[in-house]
Amino acid sequence: MKLVTFTHGNRTRIGRLDGDGVVDLEAADASLPTEMTALLSAGATALDKARNAKGAELALADVHLESPILRPPKILAVGLNYADHVAEAGLETPKHPVIFNKQSLSAHPPFDPFHMPRASSALDYEGELGIVIGKRCRHVPRDRATEVIAGYTVVNDVSVRDWQLRVPTFTMGKSFDTHCPLGPGIVTADEIGDPHGLELKTWVNGELRQSSNTKNLIFDCFTLIEHLTTAFTLEPGDVIPTGTPGGVGIAMKPPQLLKVGDVVRIAIEGVGEIENAVIDEPESTRLI
Ligand code: ZN
Repeated sequence: MKLVTFTHGNRTRIGRLDGDGVVDLEAADASLPTEMTALLSAGATALDKARNAKGAELALADVHLESPILRPPKILAVGLNYADHVAEAGLETPKHPVIFNKQSLSAHPPFDPFHMPRASSALDYEGELGIVIGKRCRHVPRDRATEVIAGYTVVNDVSVRDWQLRVPTFTMGKSFDTHCPLGPGIVTADEIGDPHGLELKTWVNGELRQSSNTKNLIFDCFTLIEHLTTAFTLEPGDVIPTGTPGGVGIAMKPPQLLKVGDVVRIAIEGVGEIENAVIDEPESTRLI
């Protein structure tokens, strides 16, 4: 099942993607939650209802897809998790997962443009498989990690390289508003099976920049969940972008950072595709 968050008629709610249609889950079954983290929190019975809901279908072309989780409780990303990316960064393979936060507010729709910041032009892409957590959990052993995964999504871990690298922590450079496009929905874990054999590709303006497979993850999805939950509780709707393979713009010779007007497309086998253009940060971001 592919779950989406969409806006239609000025109201945002959740749906099930069926080919070119979206089943409006609120209209199809009034007993279901209308927001994604609530649906995931409601567990297997609610997900079965969503899977079986009928009618109330809208054309995909008539809705606006939002970030599948509008405001994830946490976005916990992983750095340096593919050997070819570690090599292109000129770094050593990490002994422990390199974890950093992207702010919840950086979550951004799968097909909307993201911002070239007013403060920098060192803008870059990172195609990544995102894990979506489905169950509140702590101290999850690796061999039980599948019990807490709701599904998977495609993430662009957009990065502002000068802000990322000029100080010891990634927090600001990885967290500008709009810099976590994700989607197009959440593909439930039962559809994916083992998430460690999925082709992952990124194109910029149609030119292939990244081509790898999630089998190349240094710390795999289940190990990451064991590691993260050693320290803190994960909750439904938390997103874990698992790291990017080689081929980011800053590592090209010469570097090929993003420009206004560029279009970044990321596809992951079985999970879907997102596509986002780059626009200048608009005047409307001044909120004071
Ligand atoms: Zn990344």
